[in-house]
Amino acid sequence: MMEAHELIVVGGGIAGLTAAAYAAKRGMDVLLIEKNETCGGLINTFARDGFTFDGGVRALESAGIIKPMLADLGIELPSVKSPVSVGIGKDIITVESEGDLEAYAALLRRTYPESGEDIDRLVSLIRTVMSHMKILYAVDNPLFKNFREDLGYFLRVYLPWMGKFILTLRKLDSLKGPVEEYLAGIIKNPSLRDIVDQHFFKATPTFFAMSYFYLYTDYFYPLGGVGKLPERVQEKFLRFGGKLKTGRRIVAVKPAEKVLVDDQGYSYQYKKLIWAADLRFLYANTETNGLPEPVVRNIAAKKTAMEGAKSSESVFTLFIAADLPPDYFSALSRGHFFYNPSAQGLGAIHRKELASLLERWERLSRATILDWLDRFCRYNTYEISIPVLKDPQAAPPGKTGIIASLLFDYELVKRVHTDGWYDGFKAYLEQKILSVLTENLYPQLSGRILFSFSASPLSIEERVASSGGAIVGWSFEYPIPVTSSMLGVNESVLTAIPDIYQAGQWSYSPTGVPTSIMTGRLAADRVAKK
Ligand SMILES: Cc1cc2nc3c(=O)[nH]c(=O)nc-3n(C[C@H](O)[C@H](O)[C@H](O)COP(=O)(O)OP(=O)(O)OC[C@H]3O[C@@H](n4cnc5c(N)ncnc54)[C@H](O)[C@@H]3O)c2cc1C
Repeated sequence: MMEAHELIVVGGGIAGLTAAAYAAKRGMDVLLIEKNETCGGLINTFARDGFTFDGGVRALESAGIIKPMLADLGIELPSVKSPVSVGIGKDIITVESEGDLEAYAALLRRTYPESGEDIDRLVSLIRTVMSHMKILYAVDNPLFKNFREDLGYFLRVYLPWMGKFILTLRKLDSLKGPVEEYLAGIIKNPSLRDIVDQHFFKATPTFFAMSYFYLYTDYFYPLGGVGKLPERVQEKFLRFGGKLKTGRRIVAVKPAEKVLVDDQGYSYQYKKLIWAADLRFLYANTETNGLPEPVVRNIAAKKTAMEGAKSSESVFTLFIAADLPPDYFSALSRGHFFYNPSAQGLGAIHRKELASLLERWERLSRATILDWLDRFCRYNTYEISIPVLKDPQAAPPGKTGIIASLLFDYELVKRVHTDGWYDGFKAYLEQKILSVLTENLYPQLSGRILFSFSASPLSIEERVASSGGAIVGWSFEYPIPVTSSMLGVNESVLTAIPDIYQAGQWSYSPTGVPTSIMTGRLAADRVAKK
């Protein structure tokens, strides 16, 4: 007997959980299927020897979406603000409010005293984007507001805001191009340019990259780790009567019969399906037998588009447990820290040199690749998260856990793996990151490490089945095979396959946690309406 459900959601990341929770809240019979033993996907927290580590996103930005969604679902998520520090060499500042843009500008002036005009132009750009962001986020996302219960709010606040919102989207159009190209037009000093943009993905839209300064002030951290967010949404989903199957990976979709098959050979019948995982996998594993010819053609076209597009960048992360008290670290920065050990910047190292390395791969010695890696680590920007500085329970007394990551190329690690020296490469990279951190930031770390371990783009690919180890779905480089216009967001949840909807980081670009939640909600609404 095959089990049958009104709605099946595949993928228990935050998008799938949101979709499942909202559909179950509306009384639908929902089954959520997740390949791992626990849900959460790229939002996950785990404990090791008393240390709490966040394996995916390090803190959350509400972006007018997460907190309203929690309120709408009646979820309590005890959290603290998570201020961000920014540092270059020994010079470190903290961003707690918009006013700290001045401190950021002063940091850049101290580091690049000859580039005053460049910095003025940059600050003016950030200010412009901030003013736009303030309008975009001036109201809670309407998706999570029940206007029927509060018509006054709709007329008084939301309606007048709508006009400004559309105008702002138009203004942002001129800032849609790649940030590196835009900055090349306003910043002459290449090192300064690198320090500002090298921790963004390639071709990140300018407004998205430059909005980060504003978003820094929006970050919050759930007590117990970011993984508490999916945990709470999952609890709500179950309370609404939803059913959950973990440890089951869907391997085939048969839309003509409305059947799914998992990796253990079990089949599931659905009326509607929401796919909240990698879309390339969906199209590659959809059987089109028995579907009308025009539908088959549409599916084939989508499949080709998905195959021709790039996944987003990935990360390499080092987790460190240190026998040093939190005070040692809080004397330098807050718990979320973007750090540049050098003011020089990556220059051609992470793009041109890497491309050339991959092109000449077969002819290169391992020593040449490791030399590149040394420079990559020395001149890069690190995202450092120290959970115990946000939540005192996140480490044993007197000890500190540190999470340090770098954007990292999937293809490079994949080749190293194919060539059979993955473990050695990983160990080398761990040592490199450790020595950069010890030499530039935390000298006392040396000799005080209790244990450390790492996760590469391959670990991410394996854990969440995200092709290319992508951490935000599609790359910003064209062609992007899904919608990337806010005005088209309602359509972002449609697929070419009958009765199958999509949600999450592969369904809309640019993405991240808030967009995954928003598309999860939109997909649930579509399905429930039908
Ligand atoms: C290091 C890091 C830092 C980040 N920083 C930020 C940030 O600052 N701000 C921000 O907004 N976002 C950030 N992100 C991105 C954000 O975490 C993701 O975009 C978001 O969590 C994606 O959620 P999702 O549900 O769409 O996808 P996922 O979390 O990938 O969920 C997909 C789920 O589907 C499951 N699955 C896959 N295939 C199958 C299958 N065949 N059958 C069953 N289940 C399947 C997976 O196991 C997974 O649980 C970061 C991510 C990382 C890793």
